Parts: sequence; C-alpha cells; structure tokens
Amino acid sequence: MNALAELTRYYDEVSRCSRCGFCQPTCPTYKLEDGEADVARGRNALVRGVIEGRAVLDADSIRTVDECLRCGACVTACFAGVRTDRIMAAARAFYAEQKGRSRLAGFLMAGLLPRRRLLSALMKVLAWSKRTGLSRLARLAGWAGAWGRGLARAEGLVKEVPTSFFSDRLKPGTVLPALGEKKFTVGYFVGCRTEFLYPRIGLDTVEVLRRFGAEVRLFADPASCCGLPPYSYGYSQATRDLVRRNAEAIVREPCQWVVTEIGSCYHFLKEYGQLYGDDPEFGETARRAADKVVYLADFLAQAGPPRGLRAAYPRRITFQDSCQLVHLQKSARAPRELLKGLEGVDFREMEEASWCCGGAGAYTVSHPGQSEPILERKLGNLRATGADEVVVACQSCYLQISHGVRSRGMKVKVKHLAEVMEEATRPAAP
Ligand code: SF4
Ligand code: SF4
Repeated sequence: MNALAELTRYYDEVSRCSRCGFCQPTCPTYKLEDGEADVARGRNALVRGVIEGRAVLDADSIRTVDECLRCGACVTACFAGVRTDRIMAAARAFYAEQKGRSRLAGFLMAGLLPRRRLLSALMKVLAWSKRTGLSRLARLAGWAGAWGRGLARAEGLVKEVPTSFFSDRLKPGTVLPALGEKKFTVGYFVGCRTEFLYPRIGLDTVEVLRRFGAEVRLFADPASCCGLPPYSYGYSQATRDLVRRNAEAIVREPCQWVVTEIGSCYHFLKEYGQLYGDDPEFGETARRAADKVVYLADFLAQAGPPRGLRAAYPRRITFQDSCQLVHLQKSARAPRELLKGLEGVDFREMEEASWCCGGAGAYTVSHPGQSEPILERKLGNLRATGADEVVVACQSCYLQISHGVRSRGMKVKVKHLAEVMEEATRPAAP
C-alpha cells in the first residue's frame, strides 16, 4: 500500500475530531508554542486537509507534524478517541515517500536499524571512541557535526557506551532456569537500547523474572529493533520488515508470554496486531505476537512474588510514567503497585508524572529546541518531590532524564524499574 492510501485509511479517524480542544492543556508542544498548529486539533486538521486535497505537506507544514512527540497525551484527553500518534506516523510516511528525508536519516532508520550485525559493529566503534575520548574530541572540534548536528548531540547525550553488549553477556538462544520453583516460561524481548546502551537493565530484568519463578528464554535469532523508530519517522518498508521478523520470532518461541521492560518497545509490539493485523502475508502472526507480549511490571504484578521472596527498598523515590505505556496502553497501575509494595519505601507521586520528558525516541536529538524546555519542566516537578531516585519504565526516559540531572548537577539517581526490583529482591549476602 502506498503512503497516500495509508494516510487515507485515517480519514474517518481525523474526521472524528470535533475540534473540542480538550487536547490543548495536555499537549507538551502546545504548552511551548501556544499555537493551534502545535496541538492535536491543528495537526489533525492539517492531515484532513491533505487527504481532501485542500492542503499540502511541504517543507514548511511538515514542521508541525515532526514536532509532535507522539506521546499520546492527547489520546487520553480525547473523548472521540482520535489516535493522533498513528495519524502523525502516517503523515510522516506520506511525506517521506513524496519528498524524501535526509540521507543520514534514511541510512539510520532503513539502512542501519534493521541490520543487527552492522549496527553492532558501529556501536562497538562508538564505544571505543567514547572510551578513548576520540568522540568527545570530534564533537568539540566540530567534526561530528559534519555527520549532522543531530549525531553530534546524540554523542554528547550518551555518557558512556558499554564495550560489552547484552548479547555478549547472555548469548541468543540461551535458556535460563527459574530460581526456585518454576511457575512460568517466558521469552525475553531485548530492545536495542538494552542491547547496546543498558545491558545491565536487561540482565536485571532476566534476574528478576527468574526470581519470580520464570524460566527465561532468549530468542535464537533476535532482530535489532522492535520497529518503532522507523515507524515513527515514516520508513514503512524497514518497519514492516522488522515487524514481520519480530512477530515470527515471538510466535515461534515456545513460551506463554514474551516480556519486555522497555515501555516504548512494549507499546509498539502491542501495536503489531492493530497496524499489521490485516496484512495478507503475516497478519495473523502479527496479531498472535501482539497478544503474547506483556510489560515487565504487569507480569510481575500478576505473577506476585513467590513465597519467601523479600522485597525491600528503603529509599525516597518517585516514578516517571512512560508516555506510551500510560497513554496508549493504559498501564499506569502496575509499576506503582510494585514500587509502593516494597518494604520501607517512601514513594512520592510526581506532578505531571505522565507528561513526556522530551526524550520521545530520537526527539531529543532531532528537536533540541523543543525537547530541552519540556525536560526542564519535568526536572522542576522532579525537584519538587524531594525524591532521591526517579524510577522510569522506558530507556528513552532513562537517557533523557539522566542527561537532564547530569547537565544540571542534580543529586537525583535515575533507575529503571527492573534495577529497583532486582536490588529490592536481591538475596542477602551470606
Ligand atoms: S480532544 Fe480529540 S476531538 Fe477534541 S480537538 Fe483534540 S483531537 Fe479533536
Ligand atoms: S501526541 Fe503528544 S505532542 Fe503530539 S499532539 Fe498529542 S499530546 Fe501533543
């Protein structure tokens, strides 16, 4: 299906917008610009105009589509249930097909992300250049800018890249037994941020699952990415290839559920059925895969701790929702239940915890002018809690808030839910 036909599929959806404006107070980009073009109502009106032939998506008007975080806060506020997140993705795909994007973006999204070995080799080079200080030198000298300002900023955002990735530590195809009585068999979906940037979080996820009675299976031939980045930026073929490969791997794995700890990956894996469920080649596989996927917190909350497992965490903490978990998958309860249930914890709810932190995948790199003030607002709310740790449910928030607290010299630790659960349930040293 070409991109115009794909966009036209959303005609009924954009037409449902009643122009009520309930989306305005919840939209981070509307709060920044205070302009009709920068909120779901205006964005959907533009897309409706394009489908009806009254408006065009050109270099100027695509700005408003690209500035959408796709956070889904407007979806929560919208009585008509207009899925602005999907509509924006379809508009970007339409624009990419009509006008094209930069070569660098095309290489990253369509050339690199689907090629695990190449991606892995490049990340090793980046890890080495980070370690030797070469990448910082290149950034300071402006050489990294020659590859695009975005790459130079990305290099600066990441504090360090581990030289040993998740799959170097736990090989694909490994099956790890439950610790104690086996109650479940689960597959573990390793997202690219876990694989290349935060393997520690992946190892903690596996450990916690095992402590909760799960035998954990790692896919024998994992893809490098769930497909969300190329989908968000309008690279339809690369997305489809990744979705198909992942869906087949998820269905093939002999397990009851496939768990992931990355909020955004979880959301997109759940979208497989909705977005590709009528695909003539793998629609049924996409639907079955989506049904099998569970978010880590939901799994742990449902499974419940095995008898005798102590979970204590005597710290002052707060929680930052993953936008896609809370707004698009309506999963806000389980992480809070888990955290509040920890012995000795002082849990402080943060104002606007469900507001985007400005990370939004590559948004922080592609739109620093918008991302930074959104982050600043988040950090103000974080400071007001007085918490010593902020717990996140997605690696995108992890990267963005870590950059925020580091660059402002804040003494707040950023932790992923999996790290907290691992530390809380770690057996006492003999
Ligand atoms: S809340 Fe929904 S229906 Fe109302 S203006 Fe926004 S997108 Fe349209
Ligand atoms: S997805 Fe987020 S940024 Fe985009 S229009 Fe909706 S609330 Fe605003």
